[in-house]
Amino acid sequence: MHGIAIRMTRRNHNAFVHLLGALEAQGFDIGELLITKDFAEILKARPKVVLYSFFTEEIWDVQEEVKILKENTNALLVAGGYHATAMPKHTLNHLGFDIAAIGEGEEIIFQLLSLLKRSDFRLTRDLLNIQGLAFYLNDEFTFTGFARVDDFTKFPPFAESSRLIAPIEISRGCPFGCYYCQTPYVKGFRMRHRPIDQIVKYSKRMKDMRYITPNAFAYGSPGAILNLNKLEALLKALQPLREEGRRLFYGTFPSEVRPEFIKPETLELLLKYADNRRLAIGAQSGDDDMLRAMHRVHTTEHVKQAVEYMLEYDIEPVVDFIVGLPNENEESQRKSIEFMKWIMRKGGKVRAHYFMPLPGTPWARCKPSPLSEEMKKFLGRMAAKGYIEGSWGVQIELSKKLQRLIEEFYEVSPSYVGEVKKIC
Ligand code: SF4
Repeated sequence: MHGIAIRMTRRNHNAFVHLLGALEAQGFDIGELLITKDFAEILKARPKVVLYSFFTEEIWDVQEEVKILKENTNALLVAGGYHATAMPKHTLNHLGFDIAAIGEGEEIIFQLLSLLKRSDFRLTRDLLNIQGLAFYLNDEFTFTGFARVDDFTKFPPFAESSRLIAPIEISRGCPFGCYYCQTPYVKGFRMRHRPIDQIVKYSKRMKDMRYITPNAFAYGSPGAILNLNKLEALLKALQPLREEGRRLFYGTFPSEVRPEFIKPETLELLLKYADNRRLAIGAQSGDDDMLRAMHRVHTTEHVKQAVEYMLEYDIEPVVDFIVGLPNENEESQRKSIEFMKWIMRKGGKVRAHYFMPLPGTPWARCKPSPLSEEMKKFLGRMAAKGYIEGSWGVQIELSKKLQRLIEEFYEVSPSYVGEVKKIC
């Protein structure tokens, strides 16, 4: 009989794999957990606690499952992840969770599960001693403070006793603070890195070596500058594993690289030490005014230079754009179209996304702009020919739902760095 179930999904797989590593490292026996992607299995097991982790884009599906769990079990429902962190009141009052975990989860999950086991899975005042929780105590909303984990590398990327593995998070936090992005507000503006010996040790368990980082070429630096020696030391240390037959993917799925970090020196390292011959970078717009407005801290010139360098080194550029940005006019969209055309003519790939206002970001309450007829036709034509990838069509609808959600349930989001300022 399992007292605690973990509701794994394709999207929270990496997060839970890492949290299992953290739980085990702190002495929790993860063998007693029901870990499954099969919701029916959880229903059948009737656990005392079910743990969820999800993004705001997923709340409508999560809400359905919560309803079914409430009707059929007495389980305590715990939510973690970006939505619970940014909108804890909505998570409790409207999604129906009993506890929201707020912030970095490694220590919260261990302390919370240990306490719930001791208290026979009841909500008690002892929850007040755990930082990073929101819940109702005697009908009063209670928040115990944002949970920060200064040294996330105290915890291994996966559990020794489990076969579950995921790309390793090698760096956490980002100093750039793009206004549409949740990362710095949840993970901090200071970039922290997993030591090389740990990365090598755990990479041995992977067949294809893949990593999670907001900016793969910033490894070893405070985040906004390049530390070439440290980057090379990491890639070099992974070579014996490549020689044993593993492939090394760096700066591509599931991570990416900022355009201004694409330089001959970094590309030479990639060619020498990694197996991927494509790199993902964020351009986001072809209009420098829009780049300034969203606080990207790079220009279109940086992106152009990055694409040119990549082509020179025979590396395929995969370039992300966001369309429908707040206050984006037809002229801005025309500039993005021209820039996308230029990238495609050069032989690069474009991925297009529609702007989605995410809670806990400075642009949470900003409105997406409609796509011009020219942009709609262009994206449609290019997608039909297979030149542009991306789910902007689905995201237009999702963006409307997010906007309605934030308008109706807006709450000031707890964050790593203090109040998130609204900037439109
Ligand atoms: S979009 Fe990338 S560079 Fe910008 S804040 Fe988020 S993680 Fe950092």
